[in-house]
Amino acid sequence: MKKFDVLIIGTGMGGLVCGNILSREGYSVCMVEKNKQLGGCLQIYVRDKVIFDSGVHYIGALDKGQNLYQIFKWLGLMDKLKLEKMDPAFDRILLDGEEKEYPIMQGYDAFEKEMIRNFPEEEIAIRKYTRTIIEICDSFPLYRLHLEEDVEKKKEAMQVSARQFIESITKNENLRAVLAGNNMLYAGTGETTPFYIHALTVNSYMESAWRCLEGGSQIAKILSKNISEAGGMVIKNREVKKLETEKGLIVGASLSDGTTIRAKYFISNTTPAGTYRLLDAGLIRPATRKRVEAMQNTVSSFILNIVFKKKHFPYFKHNYYYHKSGKAWEMETYNENNWPLGYAIYLSPGAKNEFATGMTIFAYMRYDEVRHWASSFNTVSLKQNRGAAYETFKNKKAEQLLNRVEERFPGLRKSILHCYTSTPLTFRDYIGNEDGNLYGTAKDYQNPLGTLISPKTRIPNLFLTGQYLNLHGILGTAISGMITSIALTGRNDFIEKIRNA
Ligand SMILES: Cc1cc2nc3c(=O)[nH]c(=O)nc-3n(C[C@H](O)[C@H](O)[C@H](O)COP(=O)(O)OP(=O)(O)OC[C@H]3O[C@@H](n4cnc5c(N)ncnc54)[C@H](O)[C@@H]3O)c2cc1C
Repeated sequence: MKKFDVLIIGTGMGGLVCGNILSREGYSVCMVEKNKQLGGCLQIYVRDKVIFDSGVHYIGALDKGQNLYQIFKWLGLMDKLKLEKMDPAFDRILLDGEEKEYPIMQGYDAFEKEMIRNFPEEEIAIRKYTRTIIEICDSFPLYRLHLEEDVEKKKEAMQVSARQFIESITKNENLRAVLAGNNMLYAGTGETTPFYIHALTVNSYMESAWRCLEGGSQIAKILSKNISEAGGMVIKNREVKKLETEKGLIVGASLSDGTTIRAKYFISNTTPAGTYRLLDAGLIRPATRKRVEAMQNTVSSFILNIVFKKKHFPYFKHNYYYHKSGKAWEMETYNENNWPLGYAIYLSPGAKNEFATGMTIFAYMRYDEVRHWASSFNTVSLKQNRGAAYETFKNKKAEQLLNRVEERFPGLRKSILHCYTSTPLTFRDYIGNEDGNLYGTAKDYQNPLGTLISPKTRIPNLFLTGQYLNLHGILGTAISGMITSIALTGRNDFIEKIRNA
């Protein structure tokens, strides 16, 4: 087989963006994906003909000129994706014991107006909140598709706690809870989450919020087609098992079918710890390995996918986020009896948008809960039954979650045709991480640089990309792809091309 310029391990969003940028820069690219379906968290699954997304329930900043719009346009996605703009109030926050829904609006003016309508005494706090979000986003130039950065300003922004900032601007408990209300978007915890993670995430949706009709897998299909059309190769259903080295450089990747692909550069879209495990022990310093293995990851999740009976449950173009009183920043500290302390609800549209065909309910679940079945492995390519006790565990959790959701959506059960569940083990097996974590490493405002991962490694021709780097999400990993491509090529002129696409 020919030797490629770049071999990319994994076809998640970060890997695919690298593949696209490098192909356009004239590099020959080979991508290797262990799953049958490309895309990592962009994968979809179909149950009773209803499409469910594994990790793209909605995306932000796709209005003309906004950052993801520019990136998607440059990548050739914008005119091919089937998108639906969400309701002006795209997220609704539900507080414990209150009938009312608190809307999060698209557009800063609308957001402020609606928040001030709900909290008329809190105008100063609300305006400070939005102003600070915009300022913080400005401290991260690549987020704005610019290159010149003020390192000190960025460092300063990284040291602010999300919880402490929100609590510093208002004493109103309900406003605090509403502003933190959709923090499942970034696995926010009171102990570690920096405010910049909150700001970069919520800003993109407040700019504009969109659903990918027919699922996020469209993104993976289009991006991989671009690579093939540029002369690259995309290999599915084969895992990179080992990275071969010579004189301190990687020379080839050995795949699960026994073949080896040679390349000049290697980019890993899997976990940093998993990447280092593909290498001989001597190549990475024990201290580096230890540091990476010990990094705290974000929590994992339990997903309940409901297929609705025909014409039963209305379709709405917004999401719901609920949390128990006082637990917005502590949802992952649940115990067996009070689980879940919060949930998110996303709908799958029907053909005419009148009724929903499906609902995804998402709650945190710690990996420890499924550790008992850790030795099992189950994907469509490699099927294994995890056993009856696992099914009983999942059914019990589904009931517990449905009970909690029915407190706010009474009678939901009457609309259910079938339910399907996934646990941290599902994510672990499909994504290839160790614990099914949602969004990679947990960033920590007390140790901001210690929780960031560089795209460069100690091996000169090995690079990392994806959500472990700077930011998770479709936007965050697209930016990771850009950062990794700059690190590999030493060039950054494509950023201007993206900004002006
Ligand atoms: C439940 C959930 C909901 C989410 N909701 C949203 C949302 O609504 N909006 C949003 O913007 N973001 C959302 N996200 C986050 C977003 O989907 C992810 O941050 C992003 O897609 C991760 O991309 P990545 O580049 O890190 O790659 P990943 O998606 O982690 O993919 C890594 C790929 O590498 C492959 N791989 C691993 N090891 C190997 C190997 N040895 N050989 C070959 N291939 C390998 C894996 O199979 C996988 O395909 C969600 C995530 C989750 C988990």
